[in-house]
Amino acid sequence: MKNPDNFPFEYILFDLDETLYPKEAGLMAAIHERMLLYMVHKLKIPADDVADKQRDYYQRYGTTLKGIMTEYKIDPLDYLAFVHDVFPGDFLGVSPPLARMLEEMPLRKVVFTNSYALHAERVLDVLQVRAHFDRIIDICALDYVCKPDPASYQKVVDWLGVSGKQCIIVDDAPRNLFPAKDLGMTTILVAGEKSSSAIDHAVPTIFHVERVVRSLLPHGRNLS
Ligand SMILES: [Mg+2]
Repeated sequence: MKNPDNFPFEYILFDLDETLYPKEAGLMAAIHERMLLYMVHKLKIPADDVADKQRDYYQRYGTTLKGIMTEYKIDPLDYLAFVHDVFPGDFLGVSPPLARMLEEMPLRKVVFTNSYALHAERVLDVLQVRAHFDRIIDICALDYVCKPDPASYQKVVDWLGVSGKQCIIVDDAPRNLFPAKDLGMTTILVAGEKSSSAIDHAVPTIFHVERVVRSLLPHGRNLS
């Protein structure tokens, strides 16, 4: 789909987990369960402490992995393979409405995820939307400095060769939108409330993003 003239945006950056599919699918809950298992079995953290530790790492370091990497000597790829040892097809199915929405959106599409590329590929394959994305930027590409660290957003726009103003970002975590807004991106929160001026638009599901993008088009232009 050609980018219409005078349309100020070039890219739309999509978070993966619980953005392109709903939280209710249960996939992230299963991954979260494996994060705790990893901490008990590989790091020997007492089972009673792991939930608090994991929450603490997530809040202090941005991701559980970053916390573990800072406090333990681990192989991050071993961790990523362990926690993502779940089959997305057990939780998700093909999504023709998502494919149609992506197809009609006149923007280049990128997955920008704190997960890792193999997991992202599996999810996109199950949803059958992989072909709509130019690239996947994952935690490994970002050298484990990921959302919401402002450096990760700067890297993304540098790699894409655009300014923040030329990007729309879609994420289910408000904290991941704040640094994006600082960089000039237009922010869309999925499945959340518009609790901050840094959130330009809040929509109930991924399917409502289409209406927002349509509203951003130059007056009188259609999506297709
Ligand atoms: Mg997410």
